[in-house]
Amino acid sequence: MSIDVPQQILDVLTDVDMPRLAPAAAAGKPTAIAGLRVPVQRAGCLVVGSGAAGLRAAVELKRRGVDVTIISQSAWGGTSACSGSDKQTLHTANSADQGDNYIAMARAIRAGGAMDADTAYVEAVGSSRAMASLQFLGLPLPQNRLGGTLRYQTDHDEVGRATSCGPRTSRLMVKVLAAEAMRLEIPFHNQTTAVSILATGQGDARVVQGLLAIRADARADDNPHGFAVYHCATLVLAAGGPGELYRDSVYPNGCFGSLGLALEAGIDLVNLTESQFGIGTRREGFPWNLSGTYVQTIPHIYSVDAKGNEYNFLADYYRTTQELAANVFRKGYQWPFHATRMLDFGSSLVDLAIFREGSAGRRVFMDFNRNPVGVPGDQPFSLDRLDADVAAYLGNAGARQPMPIDRLRHMNPLAIELYRRYKVDIAAEPLAFAVNHQHMNGGIAVDVWGRSSLPGCYAVGEAAGTHGVTRPGGAALNAGQVFGTRAAEHIASTPSAKIQTNKTTATKAIDGVMALLQPDSPLTPQALRDAVQARMSDHAGILCTPEAVARALTEARQLNAEIAAKGIALGRTNDAARAIQRHHMALASEAVLIALDHYIRHGGGSRGARAICDPAGASLPDTARGPLEDYRFRKENPVHKDEQLVVRMVDGTMQVSARPNRPFDEAAKSFFERDWADWLTGAIYGQSAPC
Ligand SMILES: Cc1cc2nc3c(=O)[nH]c(=O)nc-3n(C[C@H](O)[C@H](O)[C@H](O)COP(=O)(O)OP(=O)(O)OC[C@H]3O[C@@H](n4cnc5c(N)ncnc54)[C@H](O)[C@@H]3O)c2cc1C
Repeated sequence: MSIDVPQQILDVLTDVDMPRLAPAAAAGKPTAIAGLRVPVQRAGCLVVGSGAAGLRAAVELKRRGVDVTIISQSAWGGTSACSGSDKQTLHTANSADQGDNYIAMARAIRAGGAMDADTAYVEAVGSSRAMASLQFLGLPLPQNRLGGTLRYQTDHDEVGRATSCGPRTSRLMVKVLAAEAMRLEIPFHNQTTAVSILATGQGDARVVQGLLAIRADARADDNPHGFAVYHCATLVLAAGGPGELYRDSVYPNGCFGSLGLALEAGIDLVNLTESQFGIGTRREGFPWNLSGTYVQTIPHIYSVDAKGNEYNFLADYYRTTQELAANVFRKGYQWPFHATRMLDFGSSLVDLAIFREGSAGRRVFMDFNRNPVGVPGDQPFSLDRLDADVAAYLGNAGARQPMPIDRLRHMNPLAIELYRRYKVDIAAEPLAFAVNHQHMNGGIAVDVWGRSSLPGCYAVGEAAGTHGVTRPGGAALNAGQVFGTRAAEHIASTPSAKIQTNKTTATKAIDGVMALLQPDSPLTPQALRDAVQARMSDHAGILCTPEAVARALTEARQLNAEIAAKGIALGRTNDAARAIQRHHMALASEAVLIALDHYIRHGGGSRGARAICDPAGASLPDTARGPLEDYRFRKENPVHKDEQLVVRMVDGTMQVSARPNRPFDEAAKSFFERDWADWLTGAIYGQSAPC
């Protein structure tokens, strides 16, 4: 596994430059709306977001002849373009050796429960095509001499279905898809932020009509905030995940997603209780996951208090030095926190310990120039005393160098290089890190074509709530590619609705935004950010209690009531989009908390990202210093694996309901002569159970 590759080749995989955008298209015909002169534009389909998912949808739409326009708050912003871990992973059914079985893969994708079985199959069976088409566009996925894709094992993946182009896999995906979007001359409106979905009609007749955006180059004296109206027949939300929801977050800066946008439009959200948290460096510096080889080198992890005293705190949790070292190592492929892994001296005790150090006001570091300091009374760390899986891995990798930094340099020099590029030299100094929010598994509820509950509106990528309680590493990128393609197929194959251009909804939307922007409000966007993020990180992170979640929900509701009553103060006119996005985060926070509160009140136990701590819980994490009664937690109630919680906002009030997972008949066999007609007539596009 030693990487003996010229630096120039490594550089290309690390420093991924992005294509230059064509000059922006005109903002649209200025029209008198709500007392302003607002540019109005039409598109057959409008895609919101230019991450890997949005670009995939746009490219697939254009190839099918749909008149598509992309808008994005930041062309190469978002998680696909800007985040990573030591190896970014793409989940795929392709493999170098024994091939794969889509049904087995689908079972693995939904193994954590609370996931639609048809969606899992769609993602599994679509993964080969998603990957092959990325390769066709030039994504340099590694192959062997005979064309088999190289693969490895990752989180929640027993088989090894992961592949990677290195730490910038998703950025490279954006790059090849963006180049294709430009080749196809898809209109691309950068620095354009969606602030309100326009929908028209009532009840079952309600359909998407377009979008209100704030666009930097539309600002003018008669339109000071830069409103822009887009009328479209279909809308694809590909705005990514809600990175700004948590203070402790490894998302890049400025990721707001579209949960608040969707809530305001009355669109159903699902599985908001499910997220991923794990160790990484925060976005205040260089946000990056510390998984894979970073931890498989077994660096020393310690904390420092305000007086500079150092603590070998993991020695309080693990009984022997060997056990401590093995669990640091296992964070490599058991990266996300999982409640049950706090038991039996498992690897999530590492997350718990780090979280507790942070709560005690100590900073936690990873030092690659020191091996783990031994557990008092036990033998010191030695590469000759390792658990069998650890010894086998390091042995196979030829990584028996004396220091973690040497092992890292040997196994994955890019990992060192990456931090160096952001002015952090992990070869010279310890690295501060924490347990952070990294992914939201839930999101906008969609059917197997990516359709949301609002006709005409689709959601793909992290915006969509397609994942269950757990997801194999790489399943996020795969889901975005598969659903981006499927949404495009559905849109292109369905008779397009007439684009409705009446001004009533746009006027109402602009009036609504203007009512929120109140110069004299005591609520600033920064105050909103701090309140929401602290509440979510402190009470809705990896450790929750029923009381704290209920209290946090009450406070979140109060905050939203205050925003509705007083509006949000604006420092400068060009802050309007950010202010609305902070408002959307406050709505999203209430939605997550109401789902979590409902789940806990209905006997919901610990699963996936969160431990539900409860003095009556049956599970008790044990440590070298004895059991942690304060962190006794509830077991998962298996009933909840079969259903998902749906949140929707009706007249300003959030409602929660449960719905069963959609099934998938594993025994059903396709029969060409019988099923071909459905494909030829387009009947397959109508055969979707509601989301
Ligand atoms: C540190 C880290 C490591 C990860 N590693 C992996 C991994 O190894 N494998 C994996 O599968 N997944 C991984 N993920 C998750 C994965 O990267 C994301 O789920 C995925 O990139 C999301 O892609 P997307 O296209 O849906 O959204 P994004 O890439 O976030 O794109 C969103 C786009 O929407 C735009 N946008 C946002 N809001 C608005 C708005 N209101 N108006 C207009 N535009 C808007 C943004 O500018 C951006 O262009 C990781 C995530 C993180 C944070």
